[in-house]
Amino acid sequence: METRKGTKPRHTISQYEKRVELVNPPPMTDTLQADPDKLDVEEMTHAELRDAWKKLSEKLRTPVSDPDEDVRLNVLKMEIWNEMKSRTDAEPPECPECGSQRWSQSFGDPKECGGCGLHLTTRHDSLIEEVDAYWQEVTSAEATA
Ligand SMILES: [Zn+2]
Repeated sequence: METRKGTKPRHTISQYEKRVELVNPPPMTDTLQADPDKLDVEEMTHAELRDAWKKLSEKLRTPVSDPDEDVRLNVLKMEIWNEMKSRTDAEPPECPECGSQRWSQSFGDPKECGGCGLHLTTRHDSLIEEVDAYWQEVTSAEATA
């Protein structure tokens, strides 16, 4: 039996692969590529939201050079977060200084109160745990809707 194996020059294969890519572009399922105006977070499953949230968090750990892109990604991240939050009954702990329930944290930084800017340090061990538990609950909650 005649085998054609090895008779094809390499460039033919890569040209073929390139054509396949053009005919079948990768599906636009990556949330990060999606237009946030068209992204319907309410229609996303919790697993999709969590996945998108994770990807965004990782992406935003390193500075985004394009300021527009930075804003877009942060708005998207906030939308996803708010949607996940709306699907759980979990309540964030209150800031001991101002009572705000908005907490944020940049990678490598301490947790920070969105109301008064209080930075949580080792003095606030139990509060840090409560915020972590709350975040954990929001990101891990299964959709009940
Ligand atoms: Zn505060």
